[in-house]
Amino acid sequence: MNRNQNGSGSRKPSGTRTRPLTREEAILAEKRRAEERRRRRETKKLVEKGVAIGIFALIAAAICLIIMFAYIFIDFRSVEKTPDQPVKVTYQKNDTVVLNDEYFDHRNGEYYVSLAKVSELCSFTLHGNSKNMTLTLPDGKSASFDTGTPSVKVGSVYSVLKNKTYFSGGHLFIPVSFFEDMCKGIRCEYDKLGKVKGLNLIFEKDFTFKVLKNEESEAIIYNAPSDSSEKSMFKSDLSDYESYMNPENADEFIALINSSHKLKKDYVPEDLFQISDTIEGLSGEKLRLNAAKALEAMFIEMRAHGFSGVGAVCGYRSYDYQKSLLDNETNALFLQYGDKKKAEELAGSRVFAPGESEHQSGLGVDICNSTLLTEAFSETAEYKWLYSNCADFGFILRYPKDKSDITGKEFMPWHFRYVGRSHAKKIMDEGLCLEEYLEIIG
Ligand SMILES: [Zn+2]
Repeated sequence: MNRNQNGSGSRKPSGTRTRPLTREEAILAEKRRAEERRRRRETKKLVEKGVAIGIFALIAAAICLIIMFAYIFIDFRSVEKTPDQPVKVTYQKNDTVVLNDEYFDHRNGEYYVSLAKVSELCSFTLHGNSKNMTLTLPDGKSASFDTGTPSVKVGSVYSVLKNKTYFSGGHLFIPVSFFEDMCKGIRCEYDKLGKVKGLNLIFEKDFTFKVLKNEESEAIIYNAPSDSSEKSMFKSDLSDYESYMNPENADEFIALINSSHKLKKDYVPEDLFQISDTIEGLSGEKLRLNAAKALEAMFIEMRAHGFSGVGAVCGYRSYDYQKSLLDNETNALFLQYGDKKKAEELAGSRVFAPGESEHQSGLGVDICNSTLLTEAFSETAEYKWLYSNCADFGFILRYPKDKSDITGKEFMPWHFRYVGRSHAKKIMDEGLCLEEYLEIIG
């Protein structure tokens, strides 16, 4: 009683009932406790269920991600396997693009890619024309290419590509090594040994051009020329000759001179200029000013490449002088054969008739390592250099070996004709003779 009075007296207001629990009350209390235990069990079950659902959801998400990555991977694989189909995508990090041979080429031992195509893929800005193209990145960095030269201007620094760029089918093609050597962000993968079907361009990160530092790449950096960057294709400084090699009025120099397009008897060029480098023992040979100065530049460059034993043998010849050459040949052959008609025919195949010779125009020049002009010159390193490089100076090989049926003349590895660089490049690059070229351009 006391315990109850003292123990519950403090909790319960005075005057409330203090007595032992009745049997009914005890049962009720027990029921409440049982109910409480049941509730706790249910809550625990619910929590356990929730955790299970969570784990399940996580596993499902992981499976989804794996499937997604597998899809992307399979997609890339299928792109790589079908290089015949050009893929048009916009530049994305870690993207791979396969170019087919419309935008990809192999020549001069180098792989080339269409600059326009790469720009399109990368959303770069490209502007310019067939002579010069500039690629600009969104951050303003730029690379500028001069068609037909290995020159590239990255920012304000001039550098040299491993090979010359060229223009074909409305596209400027640049050596793939440009991306390997001077850019970061694009990686190139291609089969360097087997038959190449395409080029994989892998966009790895934000694309940028390497800023070339002088100490790193001294050997390949030019001092930026003041005006035209086309000078950078030469070993020597030929900047003073540029306007002669690549004149603005080049069309004045492409006139056809042959047996059906003869020069008049009294035609003498007004601007004849003495040639500087004639072969030993000869002097006083002349050409028209542009041709003479362009030839001078060509010899300067040849000397720089170590070719010393070659020079001009013959430049301008007057109508009368050409006539005397033909007459002398005819007389000599008449003495030999005693047959006037035969002598005339034979002489006509060997010596140009007056009016039919480019030498009278002051634009044709014979270049050789000897005063004796023979086909043997075509076997020399000097000839091979001239053949490969003459167009840069504005000259063409006028009577190529495989064009005799069109030119009407035998192969003359010594006879070069000045037409100016713009025409010369097209003629030599396409392997044409002057007759074919003039037919094409109308
Ligand atoms: Zn000649």
